[in-house]
Amino acid sequence: MASDWSIEDSVNLYHLKNWGSPYFSINRDGHITVTPHGEGDKSLDLYNLIQSLQSRNIRLPFLIRFSDILAARLAQLNECFNHAIIRYDYNNKYQGVYPIKCNPDRHVVQSIVDYGAAYNFGLEVGSKPELMIALAMLKPRYKNPDSSPIIICNGYKDSAYIQTALLATRLGYKLIIVIEQLEELYSTVNNSIKLGIEPHLGIRAKLNTKGSGRWGNSTGDRAKFGLTMPQIVTVIDYLKSKQILHYLQLLHFHIGSQISSISVIKSAIREASQIYIQLIKINPNMKYLDVGGGLGVDYNGSKTNFDASKNYDMQNYANDIVAAVKEACDEANIQVPILISESGRAISAHHSILIFNVLNTNDVSTVVLPHAQENDHLIIRNLWEIYESINEENYQENYNDAIQMKEEAISLFKFGYLSLIDRAKAERLYWVCCQKIHKIIKNLDSIPHDLKDLEKIMASIYYTNLSVFRAAPDAWAINQLFPIMPIHRLEEEPTKRAILADLTCDSDGKIDQFINLRKTKSVLELHTLQPLEITENNNSSILHDETMFNQPYYLGMFLVGAYQEIMGNFHNLFGDLNVVHISLNSQGYQVEHLVRGDTIKEVLGYVQYNQDELLEIIRQRTEEGIQKGKISLEEAQKLWQNYENTLDYYTYLTALG
Ligand SMILES: *Cc1c(COP(=O)(O)O)cnc(C)c1O
Repeated sequence: MASDWSIEDSVNLYHLKNWGSPYFSINRDGHITVTPHGEGDKSLDLYNLIQSLQSRNIRLPFLIRFSDILAARLAQLNECFNHAIIRYDYNNKYQGVYPIKCNPDRHVVQSIVDYGAAYNFGLEVGSKPELMIALAMLKPRYKNPDSSPIIICNGYKDSAYIQTALLATRLGYKLIIVIEQLEELYSTVNNSIKLGIEPHLGIRAKLNTKGSGRWGNSTGDRAKFGLTMPQIVTVIDYLKSKQILHYLQLLHFHIGSQISSISVIKSAIREASQIYIQLIKINPNMKYLDVGGGLGVDYNGSKTNFDASKNYDMQNYANDIVAAVKEACDEANIQVPILISESGRAISAHHSILIFNVLNTNDVSTVVLPHAQENDHLIIRNLWEIYESINEENYQENYNDAIQMKEEAISLFKFGYLSLIDRAKAERLYWVCCQKIHKIIKNLDSIPHDLKDLEKIMASIYYTNLSVFRAAPDAWAINQLFPIMPIHRLEEEPTKRAILADLTCDSDGKIDQFINLRKTKSVLELHTLQPLEITENNNSSILHDETMFNQPYYLGMFLVGAYQEIMGNFHNLFGDLNVVHISLNSQGYQVEHLVRGDTIKEVLGYVQYNQDELLEIIRQRTEEGIQKGKISLEEAQKLWQNYENTLDYYTYLTALG
């Protein structure tokens, strides 16, 4: 059966083309390959990369970043807008910004700034720390500030924020302070008078258009951010009264992230275009329309308006924005604005892959029949009978009987009428019954309702070297779906149906929902772990980083470059991951940066444990133990050494042995 399996089957099973094209595919060895600029261009075997990173002592789990993919996404976004501008004869330009909050990693922002230079791509900030980043990373153009990349200043602003932003304009930055609340307007104007620096102002409008999906309430009258229409009128009256209406140049809105439906985007653009037109009529200095973020990522590849998907592509998005703004402005007979967008997710999601290994599995599908004995307890004999009589006609009835017998066995055990050994036997028989029934229903077109859960019940648990809370918090917090699949063995049929458990001692630390074209699926197809063959001269350099009992099995979680790293938490004190930045070149690839993940000592430091203090306490304890004759000097030294060494380890699992 396994020999019938082809690589094409794996592509289809994991919907790889749908969510991964053109960046990820499978080569003839059954390994995932990464092709940042699409077919025919430079590509890299991900499995080989993982091996070679491990032989450089970079331990799993790690995050691999492909700066080429960032470059490709950035180029694509700009090209889509430029195509649309030509197509609709739009008489102005697109000048995007990257919202730092989406992935504020220094090397990520640096790559975006570097690759973005060709497009005059700027940055969006939503807090003081992000403003500090933007000012340091972007290079202003003294001579011609108008050609500088833009810094959009969003978020809540105090005087320090506003003054820094104002003063920085002196360096030639094109900084636009977006007023989100009336207080910010008064404070900005006061500070500007104090410093004698004229600001460029924008206003963020609360649109009536409702977003869709999870972040749908980022807009509307009760939204957290932005100005209502009456407040916008107040802003205008105020600026007019001070004779500084010309400071106002930009209209901004943001209707939420991961907008899955294009109709929502269209409707927002129509509303915003009309506001813009009204504004420019009273203030000819208006020149920017900033459409915010929201450009979605198709995490399941279904191209639908499902939460994890989107029913449009990047070109549709650009077309609809450009066309709608153009149409509205033409009708009103006004000059079209410079278009700004603040796409974070769409730029950064694809570039990182989380690589993790499977430690071991717990599998009820491999439970084997116990031996039958003459004097077996009645309940066990009943279960035997059920097992033997299961067939295609009666499996449903027998399934219910098996459940009932198992429950009874547990009751008997609780009252002391069944031994532990007999209870274990009963449970084994129950699982074997489930296996037999599962085999029958697997081939059915439609599964009877009360057997729907059997697939879930029979799923293997794959224990993974990972903290969901640290590495993919949205999978836990908001049931976000990310494509997950093996990195290798893709020429082989995956015969297991599994859910993933992580390292944390938290029952939420698991992944049991996976992408599918319609709805989601509750199990992921994975390969059987292969036992490690212990050979005499096993000198493979990477084995030290694996559990010693199974051959390494690597899984990848894809499209995790947006929001996950920064929102992850330190539950159970699993720390930051090792991160490797890779760029492709004609010889293969180059490790641009290696950012080591947290050591145990570092994570302990975050929660105020000091290494020296800990070591001193343990030293005193062992000293005391030696004095009292509870521990030998040699043991004490070993314990002390272990404790000290462990403080320098990575927080994830390394080897079992
Ligand atoms: C978060 C945010 C963005 C980024 O949104 P994406 O959906 O990731 O593109 C853009 N603008 C503002 C104001 C934001 O708050």
